[in-house]
Amino acid sequence: MALPKGFAGTFLWASGLAFVFTSAAFLWSLLGFASPVTPIHLHEYAFPALVVEVGGHVIFGVLAAAPSLDPGLILLAGGESVLIDSDHLLAALGYPVEGRLAHSVFFALAAAVLLAYLSRRGRGPDMGVFAVTLSAVAAHLSYDVFAGNGFFYLLAPLSFGSFELPYWTWPALLTAAVIFTAPLLAERLHQPENVCPNFGVRQDGAKNDGSEFLLPVLSRDLDGTG
Ligand SMILES: [Zn+2]
Repeated sequence: MALPKGFAGTFLWASGLAFVFTSAAFLWSLLGFASPVTPIHLHEYAFPALVVEVGGHVIFGVLAAAPSLDPGLILLAGGESVLIDSDHLLAALGYPVEGRLAHSVFFALAAAVLLAYLSRRGRGPDMGVFAVTLSAVAAHLSYDVFAGNGFFYLLAPLSFGSFELPYWTWPALLTAAVIFTAPLLAERLHQPENVCPNFGVRQDGAKNDGSEFLLPVLSRDLDGTG
């Protein structure tokens, strides 16, 4: 089974991975029960601040993935950079866990590896997905700092201590996020016929119909989704 061609296929692919990412961030927040806290009511996403917050996160995520020039990766990053906040859900519902537990270096790495393998093509993980997932998390932290809340559980679940990133780190994080996806641009320019650069993994020219993948809908069709 191959993905449908064109925008529909790209959208389906990015949505599937974004759904996995959202679920992973929520499941990660369950780790908070290992270190219960007094529940506090969250106001972060009260309307109309919600619109500004979501829009800001999407813009930062899209910027982070823009160097890839890949519509699927840009869609994915825009989604991930908002949906990581599914880790707020338990706290918002009044459960005694911290919000933001997925705002962690370890979550970023674990999610990037998971998604890269789910989207893997040929014999290797999809390094484009790996790179933009890390970039999307960095872009998310950048916007959170920019918006005035730089407290993160960066080492959760190894440590449930919070770190405060100073205000100047928001442009630094966003710049780092953009730079991190730059190798994807170099590869795309080198192989302009490719839908998605993959750090050379697809250079073996292997044909596939998706059947070798764990979940075909989450993998990209090597023969092009235009
Ligand atoms: Zn956040």
